[in-house]
Amino acid sequence: MNDSIKFLLSEKEIPHTWYNIAADLKTPPPTVLHPGTFEPIGPADLAPIFTDAIIAQEVSTERDIPIPGEVREIYKQWRPSPLYRARRLEKALDTPARIYYKNEGVSPAGSHKLNSAIAQAYYNKAAGVKLLITETGAGQWGSSLALACNMFNLACEVYMVKVSYNQKPYRRALMQTYGAKVTASPSDQTAAGREILAQDPNSNGSLGIAISEAVEEATQHPDSKYALGSVLNHVLLHQTVIGMEAIKQMELAGDEPDVVVACTGGGSNFAGMVFPFIGRQLQGGRKLRALAVEPDACPSLTRGKYAYDFGDTAHLTPLVKMHTLGSTFMPRGFHSGGLRYHGMAPLVSHVVEQGLAEAIGVPQLEAFAAGVQFARAEGIVPAPEANHAVAGAIREALRCKESGKSETILFNLSGHGHFDMPAYIDYFAGNLIDYAHPEEEIAMALAGLPPIPAQK
Ligand SMILES: *Cc1c(COP(=O)(O)O)cnc(C)c1O
Repeated sequence: MNDSIKFLLSEKEIPHTWYNIAADLKTPPPTVLHPGTFEPIGPADLAPIFTDAIIAQEVSTERDIPIPGEVREIYKQWRPSPLYRARRLEKALDTPARIYYKNEGVSPAGSHKLNSAIAQAYYNKAAGVKLLITETGAGQWGSSLALACNMFNLACEVYMVKVSYNQKPYRRALMQTYGAKVTASPSDQTAAGREILAQDPNSNGSLGIAISEAVEEATQHPDSKYALGSVLNHVLLHQTVIGMEAIKQMELAGDEPDVVVACTGGGSNFAGMVFPFIGRQLQGGRKLRALAVEPDACPSLTRGKYAYDFGDTAHLTPLVKMHTLGSTFMPRGFHSGGLRYHGMAPLVSHVVEQGLAEAIGVPQLEAFAAGVQFARAEGIVPAPEANHAVAGAIREALRCKESGKSETILFNLSGHGHFDMPAYIDYFAGNLIDYAHPEEEIAMALAGLPPIPAQK
């Protein structure tokens, strides 16, 4: 074992390929269905919103997908991201466990999301697209795509969930700094937005509504496409650079994780971190536990239903089988905008169903207490979303303390919290509460699931 606290790789060691777990799964994930006919869709159905290269990645079963040279060149600005041993946190917890974390907060946009934004902007530019349209909740995906579009000289429009648009002016300004046009959603610029506003002029918006607006807008212009920051297979694929680097860095550390932990909103940073490790296991390598940590207030993996559902509120997207809280699900105000989505990446859901990963929910106050403890020990202030991963890692470390086992824990620090200090202010002022979503509301939203014929 290596005594260092920091495990760095050189530029040359940025992976040349992304890892596609679909190649190694014994049971393939369920097919994607057309929202109108409930029949399986083909690549052509996705062509109005995605370019061919991205659709090819979405349906690929090849294990190693080449990372384009231009994308790797840009990755060099902050990749390989550092992997640390959290020695001071270990001491603070008085645990025999060894805790490591990968810091994705070092990207210029502040989170892992830039890994996919760069790739998506690259493929769209190569296909002659002029404008990329997307939605954003907390603003992390929007700012990543805004920066990526600017690098490839593409225009960028972002529908930002209205509650965040009002509460997070700094994220909005960051997107504008990178050159994006930002619109509060629901807006009167789309039919989907106007319909919501007609029902509720004061709607705070949701990711599901913002997705409907962005998808609708992307199909209206000939030179524009849609971009999604999580959930879909190609986004998860782009994030696997995280886990592939981490495998090499754990080798440098002379250690092997017994458990790998990440937070789950749509599932992309979790997949990015754990899929390469699970893949190694599926290929006969070392076994480990993969732990997904979600907020109690938006518990898709732990309390949702594994069923076909829409990705958006207006039901424009294809139907995918995933752990879902129902596309009408409205999470209450809690401070992890990036974890408020009603569904889960189909590949992450599938991997959990196959018993290859576990999921837990944590309360908001535990997540913030964990983030503060981490910041005091390691100096880095995590994003509120990443606090859930920290909380999961701390639970594991305390379990080791109780049992006296010296296991190795690795977690993904998906982003820094410098734009989220108002959430910390609320936490210190005692204004945050624990809120588990009520069972009745989950049941109500689930009653609206689409009626898929049983054999599918
Ligand atoms: C968006 C975001 C998440 C959640 O999204 P995933 O697709 O589940 O990774 C987590 N952490 C940070 C910092 C984010 O910006």
